[in-house]
Amino acid sequence: MSVRVLRLLLILLLAALPALTAHAAGAGRRAAERQAQEKLASARQEQAFRDFVASLWPDAEGLGISRATFDAAFAGVAFDPKILAYARNQPEFSLPIWRYVGNAVSQSRIAAGREAATAVDPWLKKAQAAYHVDAATIMGIWGIETEFGAFCGGDRTIQALATLAFAKVQGEYFRDELMAALVILKTGDVTPAGMKGSWAGAMGQTQFMPSNFLAYAVDFDGDGKRDIWNSRPDAIGSTANYLSAHGWIPDLPWGFEVRLPDDFKLTSADSSESAPFTAFQARGVERADGQPFPAKGEGRLMIVAGRKGPIFLVTGNFAVIKSYNPSTAYALAVALLGDAIMNGSGLKGTWPTRDRALAVAQVKTLQVRLKKLGFGVGEIDGKIGDAMRSAVRAYQERHGLTPDGYADVAFYKRISTQK
Ligand code: CA
Repeated sequence: MSVRVLRLLLILLLAALPALTAHAAGAGRRAAERQAQEKLASARQEQAFRDFVASLWPDAEGLGISRATFDAAFAGVAFDPKILAYARNQPEFSLPIWRYVGNAVSQSRIAAGREAATAVDPWLKKAQAAYHVDAATIMGIWGIETEFGAFCGGDRTIQALATLAFAKVQGEYFRDELMAALVILKTGDVTPAGMKGSWAGAMGQTQFMPSNFLAYAVDFDGDGKRDIWNSRPDAIGSTANYLSAHGWIPDLPWGFEVRLPDDFKLTSADSSESAPFTAFQARGVERADGQPFPAKGEGRLMIVAGRKGPIFLVTGNFAVIKSYNPSTAYALAVALLGDAIMNGSGLKGTWPTRDRALAVAQVKTLQVRLKKLGFGVGEIDGKIGDAMRSAVRAYQERHGLTPDGYADVAFYKRISTQK
């Protein structure tokens, strides 16, 4: 490059400089303005959050909570945007049940569960004697909820609940739970710093919501505190008490994996109505592990992945597990994990793992269509729950299909292309 050209470039550059700096100054000013606006919005939100917390005091006082407990509970508590981000994060696909169960009932978790079960054996026996519930189910819940106490969640419960209540996620639900949490702090079972759990307010090794803690937590080791955070015996006793209070039927397991005879004629009623074990036996239904059914008791068939997937005969205790968490996949994972830990048994049937899962939007389409056709699908939420399975079953039965309640891709295509 010659000196002349360089000089020319320099002149051009100098000529453009005022415009360039003006542009830069404009951009800088806009950024500063934006920053100031964000700061203001965040300050307003912080103030609104503080006002919200202050507005809780009269109700707290009405519950007999002292000013000192109230102030200690909210010391250092701030609005937590991370909690809201979790609450708003909706999955794009509903996980197929076998993926959920497979992840939840892993070999490493079963091994950890066996070790934990040996360590707490006297407490499991004590819980069985006191509450007449099944030790395997206690182990299943403990494992699925917190990996036997290893992962209880590190969020401060008051901060999580206050954020969710402030944002009115699920109406007044979290405000009520926040009040229950304050009542727990009043009892002195736990300190504000020790009261930790999940982003959604579930606490300690049992992942009890505060209202559940007040109703069902017990001091099982007798040290004077109900400590579901640090005491394994308290966690076990509290879970047992919860199951018992929700109607656990003594001396019955959650159910069994079963085998249906090839010529078993599935009818809609099979999947929804209970009948004595003897009635299923008479139709040739056998336990997959070859053991006899209990002499007494009844169950209903539960088909979650079609006629070709594993099939279960569940007792009323399966519904008790669902009171902990209403998802069928959750309850089945608890049941199978407990069995694997305590009885060494695994699934005999195979999941249809090659089936593609329906997207949430596709499930919603199915729900809307089935509802239009007059079937009760429950909430249009893109999730395949009990109501949805019943609706699918009823549709299948009406149209001469095998009524297994299983909504696969073929079923989706059939319904979504129907005029
Ligand atoms: Ca205790």
